[in-house]
Amino acid sequence: MHEKRKKYYHIRKDLFWCTILLAVSFLIGYAIHQHHGIFLTHSLKADAPKERIEITFDDLQSSLNDISTCYLCGSSDYSMMDYYRKFDTVGLISLNDWHVLDFQLKAYDESGNEILNKTSSNMLFGNTGEITYSSHGDVSRGMAEIDITLPENYKLNKRNLTDHLCQSCLDKVAASLEYWKYEDEKKEPIPLCLVDFKTLDIYSLQDYYRSVFIRDYYVEMGFEEISVEVKTFYLPKR
Ligand SMILES: [Zn+2]
Repeated sequence: MHEKRKKYYHIRKDLFWCTILLAVSFLIGYAIHQHHGIFLTHSLKADAPKERIEITFDDLQSSLNDISTCYLCGSSDYSMMDYYRKFDTVGLISLNDWHVLDFQLKAYDESGNEILNKTSSNMLFGNTGEITYSSHGDVSRGMAEIDITLPENYKLNKRNLTDHLCQSCLDKVAASLEYWKYEDEKKEPIPLCLVDFKTLDIYSLQDYYRSVFIRDYYVEMGFEEISVEVKTFYLPKR
């Protein structure tokens, strides 16, 4: 009988294990390297601080010739500020159409005189073409709220500001419009601001603010995609 001879490769036992070990560690090393590569790129994308940039409006130049018609400090048929300037309270301005809303914290008559001892609560709704709003005030408690809905893809109309504000009022409004965004983010300034009817100071309604004290009025703001909710409280010092 011819016995089929099996062929064996003779290799020293220790050399054999050595080779296996080398091969395995090479594979592991390769795997770690690959994985680490992915991990690195991944973590770079996730953790690298995204650049946030500040958008300012310092360069806005007023083109208003007759400054007595300034929408904020002057008088114009297109601005209600003339009337509201007599108020002690605060308001909100829709900048794209300069629609001024009063927080109904106190009651006033038609000529802007405060009606004392009036304890009514009022609800107002409206659509100015630029914004939809609802305004509610409880005079007896000194609290009021205005909710604004902006149009989808709202955009600030700078022309409306440069055409109708004197340079000094324009500067105040421009300062209130500063906001932050990521470099590649599509984000517009919210075309709204707060106004102190008494001092004509302007306060920001950009979405990184949460609250502000305007004299004795405490203002709280909340922001959603295209809606802004502003609550005000009359909190005089005791
Ligand atoms: Zn002005």
